[in-house]
This record gives sequence, structure tokens and C-alpha cells, in this order.
Amino acid sequence: MQRFENAREAALALRPDAPVYCFRPEVLKTDARAFMEMFPGRTAYAVKTNGELIVLKALVEAGVTMFDVASPGEFAAVREVSTEAEMIYMHPVKAQSDIRLALETYGIRVIAVDHEDEINKLNRVVRALDIDPGAITVFVRVQTKGSAAYELSKKFGAGPANAVELCERLNRNGYKVGLCFHVGSQIEDPDTYERALASVDWVRNRVSFDLAGLDVGGGFPAEYGHDPNSKKPAMPSIGQIMSRLRGDLNEYNFDEMPLVAEPGRVIVARCLSLIVRVLLRKGRRLYINDGIWASLSDSWTGKITLPARFIPDPAIRARNGDADKIVPFKVCGATCDSVDILSRPFWLPETIDTGDWIEIGHIGAYSLSLRTRFNGFYPDTFVEVTTPFDEGDAPQGFASLETMAAE
Ligand SMILES: *Cc1c(COP(=O)(O)O)cnc(C)c1O
Repeated sequence: MQRFENAREAALALRPDAPVYCFRPEVLKTDARAFMEMFPGRTAYAVKTNGELIVLKALVEAGVTMFDVASPGEFAAVREVSTEAEMIYMHPVKAQSDIRLALETYGIRVIAVDHEDEINKLNRVVRALDIDPGAITVFVRVQTKGSAAYELSKKFGAGPANAVELCERLNRNGYKVGLCFHVGSQIEDPDTYERALASVDWVRNRVSFDLAGLDVGGGFPAEYGHDPNSKKPAMPSIGQIMSRLRGDLNEYNFDEMPLVAEPGRVIVARCLSLIVRVLLRKGRRLYINDGIWASLSDSWTGKITLPARFIPDPAIRARNGDADKIVPFKVCGATCDSVDILSRPFWLPETIDTGDWIEIGHIGAYSLSLRTRFNGFYPDTFVEVTTPFDEGDAPQGFASLETMAAE
């Protein structure tokens, strides 16, 4: 992989017409270690957030020893970067053949369920493979009410009373039993974890045996941009959220049992930025070479504001407008699909033009992992960059929280 000090240097050296991912392995390691230091239990990186081998490898180098996996593809990716890493299979709804593969081929011994049919599948595999159920920890996923950019508690999780029944059955079947929840991604309300802890506490107080552990899932927010014309939203930092969570775990006496977290976004968001080129400027619209079917679906569906930095092409000699004036541009994606327009504008200097580049920061989470081959566009160029996105000259523009529906 070619190395550059920053994205501007990469853009000017390569003059890329296709999107370029700028990977920062040291930023990734720093953020992974910071999380592991703050969380009072084991950290299982959620592979779906970004399952690129270079990312998984850097995480192993940073000391991550546990991975939250959901599919045969993810089992294989983790094994490819580490023969020792432990995997926990936390998808509540699984194919029976995948459960078998997990237990038989990959030696996975931690698994999540939220329904009795999932216990039936697990029992069939365990019996067929003649595994002692006592060697397996089954986490019952409990439904929670939360507030996040992505609300996942509607799709998965057993209601608290049902969770008690599932726990009792698993205990009778000889498994070790824990509780887990996942509040959704990019939480927006700092009370979210406490509400979830209250739910699992309710369950714990009604089961007749001691639980083997608690898994608090993911959802920890990453830092993004904001509309330069409005006040920065008052979101607590990850440090504040974590100290609150530690306090709540202590208050509910959960700190006396083994704890696991499954962070994704908060660990990988900062480690990648993306250089895109302006293929055409048409008034206040920018047509770029990436979009919602490639690296930018997360900002589209998740209402996420991405920080952006203008990289002017020095070959453009004459420019119109005021370079110090930051204005909103509607951003159109690379495909012919008319839906492929970002839901948030980019705020950039008025002088930006056809041929310039934009560096979009903090896109390590749910970007590459969601890209498709739709319309034949598939960004796959990587360079290594040493300077963190937020260092150096400040990003000039921010994708805005304001919608551009009016335009
Ligand atoms: C997606 C997911 C995660 C990671 O969520 P983030 O918001 O990226 O931290 C963790 N656990 C489960 C079960 C998930 O589905």
C-alpha cells in the first residue's frame, strides 16, 4: 500500500478519478486500545462494521482478542487474521447449518438467541456433534427501548418475561446462560444504556440461577461533523458515556460478573477517510464519484453528518466566488439511480469546481462494508495515511444536519 502524510498529498500525487480510501492503522490501534482501557470487561469488535482484512489485522496487533461475528464469511475473515482470536456468534437468528459450522469448524462456544426455535436449532447441533452444553455460553438477547440513529431493538430481542423463560430452559438444558442487549448504532441519548441495564436487571432478578455474564452490545457513538451554521449538538464524549456506563454497571451490581462489549463504529470510524472527485459542478450541485450504493449509504440512512475537507486541484487556475465563503452543496452520487443523492448537503467553499477533490472523514464504519457493485462502480483503492483526519488544516465544510428538501 502506498503511504502518504495526508489525503491532500495522496490526491495531488495520484490525481485519482476513482474514490480512494485513506487508511490510518495507528489511529485504529489508538481508538481500539482506548476503548479496551475504558471498558471494564472484554472487548469483542463487531466485524460487520468493517470486516476488511487490513482492519481486522490491525485490531489483532492492537491487542483485540475477541470478535463479534454473524456469518460464515465473518468467521473465515477473523480466522484468516488470527488463529487464536475468540469469536462470539451474537446474531440472534441463524441458519442451523451456520450454527453447525460455527461450533464444529470454528470452535465457537458463545452464541446468542432470542427465541425458543433458536434454542431448538442449537440443541440439535449440540446433540449431533456430541458437545457438552456446559461448554457453551448462550446469551439471551433482551429487547430494550433506546434512542439511536439505528434502532435495532425493534427487530431483535425477547421481551423481559419471555427472556426469563428462555434462560430457565437453557439452564435446564445444561448451558451456561448470560444476558445481552444491543441498543442500536450511534446512540443519541446518554440514558440509553441505563434503560437497557434496568431491563436486564429485571430479568436477572427473576431467574432461579446465577448468570454467567452480561454483554452490553455496541452502539457507542463516534464523532462526526455538524452544520457550521448551527450550534454543535451537545453529545457527550465516549469517555463520559463510558464513565456513566461504569457507574450504572456498578449500581446494578453487574460489575461482579464477566462483562463483554461489542463496539464497532466507535473503534473504526476515525481510521478511514475517503478522497472523492467532483466529476461535475452544476450550480449548487456536486456530482461525485461515490454515493449511497458505495461508501456513503451510512450517512444517507443514518442521518449522519460527515466532516469534509476541500482539496483544490492546483491545475484549476481561474475560480469563481469567494474562497472563504462556505456554502451548502447538494451531493449527487456516481450511479444513474435518481435516489443516489445524499440526504445531507456538504458545506464547502463557494469556489469548488469540476475536477477538485473532497476528503470525507470518519467513514471507517459502515462504509466499505456496505458498498455494492451497482452500476459497475466498486471503489477498491487503498492508501495508507499517517496524519489523523482531524489534524492539520481544519476541514472547511461539514455535511449538514439540515435537509435540502427545500431545493
Ligand atoms: C452492529 C452490531 C454491533 C456494533 O454496533 P456499533 O453501533 O457499530 O457499535 C454490536 N453488536 C451487535 C449485535 C450488532 O448487531
